[in-house]
Amino acid sequence: MKYNVAVIKGDGIGPDIVDQALLVLDKVGEKFNHTFNYTEVLAGGAALDAVGVPLPDETVKICKESDAVFLGAVGGPKWDVLPGNIRPEKALLGLRSALGLFANIRPAIMYKELADACPLKPEILGEDGLDLVVIRELTGGIYFGERGVKTTEYGESAYDTMIYSEVEVKRIAKVAFEIARKRNKKVTSVDKANILDSSRLWRSVVEEMAKDYPDVALNHLYVDNCAMQLVVKPKQFDVILTGNMFGDILSDEASMITGSIGMLPSASLGSSKLGMYEPIHGSAPDIAGQDKANPIATVISAAMMLRYSFDLEKEALAIEKAVEKVLAAGYRTGDIYSNGKKLVGTKEMGQLISDAL
Ligand code: NAD
Repeated sequence: MKYNVAVIKGDGIGPDIVDQALLVLDKVGEKFNHTFNYTEVLAGGAALDAVGVPLPDETVKICKESDAVFLGAVGGPKWDVLPGNIRPEKALLGLRSALGLFANIRPAIMYKELADACPLKPEILGEDGLDLVVIRELTGGIYFGERGVKTTEYGESAYDTMIYSEVEVKRIAKVAFEIARKRNKKVTSVDKANILDSSRLWRSVVEEMAKDYPDVALNHLYVDNCAMQLVVKPKQFDVILTGNMFGDILSDEASMITGSIGMLPSASLGSSKLGMYEPIHGSAPDIAGQDKANPIATVISAAMMLRYSFDLEKEALAIEKAVEKVLAAGYRTGDIYSNGKKLVGTKEMGQLISDAL
């Protein structure tokens, strides 16, 4: 089969890590007889430098026409001085909106080989590590509600509005229940229904949706309690379903429990098969171009692309197994290195995973 992938290498370590993921994807293509056609497009700081906007129309057009979008990371200090509306990160919000990507899927998996990187006490996670997934609503809520700044008698006042419609909650809840069905069949919906009207609506819509999934257990937590439970008893979670801002914060917290930001992938999905895949970390300007970045989050993002956009489960698993094999053999990039392991750079890690395939 042939698949068209729009590739945004982006800024900082973006090109370093994307190159390794493409190397691994090509190996999958060779082994399983698929062709991945890559069209490289610009977004973020690289687009600002080349054409003066963070998200050129041409990029949106090519992404829309592709089977999936694969992204490294965007942003960096060079562009931090620009006004908010033309910052590199605008490209991400623009792409999510343009492609209708309302669901962000972030697995937080702790590999048993990396148990020492976990900041929690060993008895909290036990022998078998951690495997949960955060499903974050991505195109609604406070990041997209009405906002403004006005001058009042108390000086400047600024406001942002948290707004959710039934339709928005329903479609993200459906994604969470469907994913839970393929996992351990438990959804924890996170809100702030003791205070916020938008959360009370959220909760009632999720409860209604749960009736269609009698095989999936549902419970609710307030966001502050969830933040606490994640570090006290993280193994109680299977699928965490939550809104845009709560998900932004909780998914970072969940990922840090696993110890390294360089290990975790993400997928952003909409109502079609076209999704956007990227590591959860940023462009790490401090190590860009130095062959130091961990490419594993990006490589596993490629596995998610195979699974969710192309329905290639066997191939996705092959990538995940290859990563485990390389970790089990003791190879580590600097961010996950510990004494006695073999320190490798970005390129060598990519090559090792490709060889393990
Ligand atoms: P960051 O994730 O880029 O880096 C945080 C720390 O983690 C740094 O010390 C970095 O070296 C390290 N790190 C990150 N990824 C790594 C990897 N693969 N291997 C080894 N170490 C890694 O976060 P930041 O420093 O807050 O942001 C840097 C830039 O990235 C900013 O411009 C920010 O806006 C942008 N950003 C982009 C995205 C995205 O494109 N999706 C997400 C977050 C931040």
